[in-house]
Formats: sequence, structure tokens, C-alpha cells
Amino acid sequence: METPKRNLEAVAGCIREAQTIAIVSHVNPDGDTLGSATAMRLILEAMGKDVTLFCDGKIPDQLSFLPGSEQFRVPTGEEGPFDLMLSVDVSDVKRMGSAASLLDRCRQTAQIDHHPTNPLFMNVNSVDGEAPANCILIRELMDILGVQVNTQIAICLYTGISTDTGNFAFSATNAEAFRIMSDLMEHDLPLAKLNRILFRVKSRQQIKLLGKALESLRFCGEDGRIAVMTLTRKDFDACGALSEHADTIVNYGMDTQHTDMTLLAREANDGKIKFSLRAREPFRVDGIAGQFGGGGHPQASGITMDGTLEECVERVLRVMEASIVSKEQ
Ligand code: 5GP
Ligand code: MN
Repeated sequence: METPKRNLEAVAGCIREAQTIAIVSHVNPDGDTLGSATAMRLILEAMGKDVTLFCDGKIPDQLSFLPGSEQFRVPTGEEGPFDLMLSVDVSDVKRMGSAASLLDRCRQTAQIDHHPTNPLFMNVNSVDGEAPANCILIRELMDILGVQVNTQIAICLYTGISTDTGNFAFSATNAEAFRIMSDLMEHDLPLAKLNRILFRVKSRQQIKLLGKALESLRFCGEDGRIAVMTLTRKDFDACGALSEHADTIVNYGMDTQHTDMTLLAREANDGKIKFSLRAREPFRVDGIAGQFGGGGHPQASGITMDGTLEECVERVLRVMEASIVSKEQ
């Protein structure tokens, strides 16, 4: 798909015209969507706007240090009206969850996102599928709006940029990310403290759940180059764990030698099966996720499916195996 321009001037125009603004993060919120939303709140409040933060889901405890994270509300559809709804890091309408019910209650709708699969579902769309994190786009928007970085905003932007780049390790990590980081460091970013919270410290539930996932690890496909892990409701219950505690476990599949692709499938609270898919270049998983109604990035995508865990895993695995074989021919 052709990547649309950043188009941030148009979003800035919507913001200038609005007084009441709803900011929307995606379901299963991560550091980038929450960093983007909490940074936007600080930026917009500095401009004198009335801001409400929405997220259809619980804010992970690990990210509760984000300034304003306690202000997120789960949308009921009764809120508003708002002059503007701005979604951040939301790759399609489904990823808004119940916040989609607010679309009709907003005079204008806009989005800032960095997923190449984004179907441009708002009135005004700023989508750069090559940006390594959505927070990179938020930083550029600040220059257009004439709002200065401060330590609080630096904390939000660092959270998004560092988490979406895998702590500055993924191939999409670019010079712009480091230029922005250099500026954030000038604003007293508490780097060591945040880095430990974001990348090192794990809760007891996370470590116990990791044990369950590693027990389930098997190697599938030709030469066993697809690492597969599963987590059942029983596993979550045995560890006293929530879905969010499984969020980074998929990386252990990818870190196993001779792995080209990996999947982690978990039984979510609502009975659906949630997949995390990862691939090592030149392999990609966004198209595979798309075939099952999911999406994401070339090397990191997700799917939410109905069915039993075993049956869903078999279906996705078959497509992954075929995709590795076809890439090699
Ligand atoms: P994760 O595996 O970390 O939950 O998600 C990886 C990427 O896939 C993220 O960029 C996320 O936005 C996307 N993603 C995860 N789950 C879904 C899903 O159910 N549907 C779509 N369209 N994208 C998803
Ligand atoms: Mn993101």
C-alpha cells in the first residue's frame, strides 16, 4: 500500500478550531498509544483546550507512571458531544473498541497513526507507515502547534518511542528517533528509572506466566522455524495473571535460535483468541494477520479470533507455514 504523507498540518488545523477534544487510545493499550495520548493531553492543555482521555481497556499497571494515566475513561457512548475526536496509534476502527460509539458525537474526527495497514477511517488522517513509533509524529506536531517539550511530555514521548522500537533495537529505528531522544534528554528525562520500569522489572505474575508459555513452546513448520506458544485461561488463573501480563512473552519465541516466525496465542477474558505474531526480515506477518481480520506492522502483527485455542492456532499456523515456503521459492 502507498504510504500517505504525514499531513500533520491538517490535524493541527482541526486542533486549533476545537475547544473540547476527545483523545482515543487503542484496546489492549501499549506504551505508544498511551504515551501518545498522555503527551497529547499535556500539549492540548498547554493550549487551553478541554481534554478527555478514552481507552476501552485497563491501563497496564506498568504504565501507570505516565502523567495523567489515571484520567483514562472507558467510553460508554453517552459522553460528549466533542468538537474533535483524535485517535492516536489506532490502526482501524475496531481497535477503538467502545470509543467508536463516540464518533457520531464529535463534530470533527482526526487521527495520528503509524500503521501501514491503516484504512484512513477518520475525516482527517495523518498516517506515516514508516514512522517507528506514533510518538515520533506527536513530537513533530508539537513544532507545528508551537508547544515546547518539558519533562512530563518527555516521559510520555520516550515511553512510546522506546517501547515501539523494542528499546531502539528494531530495524525501523531511525536517526529521527535518536534526534528526538537527544532533545528529550535535554529536558531531564529520567532515562535509567523509566528504562528499568519499561524493560527490566517484571511482576511475579509475568514471570510465572512466562514459565507456562515456555512449557508450551514447540517448533513447527519445515526445520521447526516457527516457534509456537499458547496460554490457556487455566494458565492465567494458575498464575493469578491478566492478559496484559502476557504482552512481551512472544519475544522469547523470536529470540530462539533458528526461528523465522513466532506466534503466541492466548485465551482472552472475553473468550476470544488473541494472537501476537512476529517475523524476522525478510519474512512478514501483516498479510497473514490481515487474512484473519487482524493487522499491524510487517514484523509485528496481531489477530483477535473466535474459536477454540487449538483450532485457531492450527488455522494461523498453516498460513504461516505456507508463507515461509512461498517466500523461499
Ligand atoms: P501485539 O502482538 O503486541 O499485541 O500487537 C502487535 C501489533 O499488531 C500492534 O501494532 C497492534 O496494533 C497490532 N494488533 C494486535 N492485535 C490486533 C488485532 O486484533 N487487530 C489488528 N488489526 N491489529 C492488531
Ligand atoms: Mn505504535
